Amino acid sequence: TKPKRIALLGSTGSIGRQTLDVVRRFPDHFQVVALAARSNISLLAEQVREFNPSVVACFADTPELQQRVREILPGAMLGEQGLLAVSTHADVDVLVAATSGLMGLRPTLAAIGAGKTIALANKETLVMAGHMVMQAAHRANVPVLPIDSEHSAIWQCLRGEKNSDIHRLLLTASGGPFRHATLEQLENVSVEQALAHPTWRMGEKITIDSATLMNKGLEVLESYWLFGVPYDQIEVVVHPESIIHSMVEFIDGSIKMQASLPSMHIPIMNALAYPDRLDIADTGFIRELRWADVASLHFEALDIARFPCFRLAIEAGKRGGTYPCALLGADEEAVALFLAGKIGFLDIARLIEAVLERHQSVEQPDVATTLEACAWARRTARELSEKLM
Ligand code: NDP
Ligand code: MG
Repeated sequence: TKPKRIALLGSTGSIGRQTLDVVRRFPDHFQVVALAARSNISLLAEQVREFNPSVVACFADTPELQQRVREILPGAMLGEQGLLAVSTHADVDVLVAATSGLMGLRPTLAAIGAGKTIALANKETLVMAGHMVMQAAHRANVPVLPIDSEHSAIWQCLRGEKNSDIHRLLLTASGGPFRHATLEQLENVSVEQALAHPTWRMGEKITIDSATLMNKGLEVLESYWLFGVPYDQIEVVVHPESIIHSMVEFIDGSIKMQASLPSMHIPIMNALAYPDRLDIADTGFIRELRWADVASLHFEALDIARFPCFRLAIEAGKRGGTYPCALLGADEEAVALFLAGKIGFLDIARLIEAVLERHQSVEQPDVATTLEACAWARRTARELSEKLM
């Protein structure tokens, strides 16, 4: 069989680099046709040398970056045009959407329109525009395959099952680095502490979102859109070992769960190879899971009082309209302010809540309205942080 031809948005990031690990190990299965990144031009140039793609894009949103792209990667396309060229290139079979942030939406919709299979890591795309993405995918008869580990787990548990037989989805959460911290301690945690995730190595934004549990809230919204299960049938349970990646409980009381040592290579392999499975032996991706060494797995309830971001996400999802866009925009800005040392850890939730209180939601937004709501929320969060904090 011919190799699957891949376009990769966000090739220099945590998911992007692990996606290229998979391609490197399975050269007969996959071929990189198009690459895009934003600012890490030297790594992008190295990847171009190694994988020799037909089209390269660098978002490069400052004049300095654009100058460097012209010097180092003169053939690369710039800006959103470049992302769209990568995601819709005629030779592409699968788009791996692995940018962070909110710029993934238009290229993902364009790829769906061009009939590409979507392997989705960028959960923001579904959170802000789930109705548009899933409707477009349905119309174009294009699959949207999850890379996020919880959703990969649920997707695997649902193979061969009927949606009407689902009693509930149970997303597992590691609980992050502050699982046992008191509210007083949370008020004073440092950026370094928040970036020290106990079980996963990821990009900075999602690592902070994991510490606030915003990430788990966003994943509930992501599940709602991917699997079409109502919010009252989606629950979260804390599982600190990150070995069970999520579960599905069926109406007959049976529960399926998917397990492995924590590694994003596995869900990436799963999405790229579907409907096949690849042999992980000799890849060096993870050690063997020895149950006797694991010895015990723990589960506990999520304490919503200490993690208000989780509640804010679920509320925004249930309210719908542009509330999820406002949530994402406010969270992007609040996390950036926290990483810059300008606000405290608990201020992240305070700021997002203040933005959501001021938001005027629009029902059934189009792409422009969606992105405008995100941008409004970013601006409002920045203004409020100067006034309130
Ligand atoms: P990183 O911060 O590590 O990487 C982000 C990538 O996106 C980089 O390659 C960056 O380029 C690129 N990028 C950002 N903005 C743009 C843009 N406007 N145009 C082109 N490229 C852009 O993030 P992660 O890999 O951790 O996460 C990526 C996505 O996957 C996020 O949505 C996250 O929520 C999701 N995810 C991640 C998991 C993980 O384990 N890391 C697990 C589950 C989901 P550059 O570096 O060159 O600036
Ligand atoms: Mg996840």
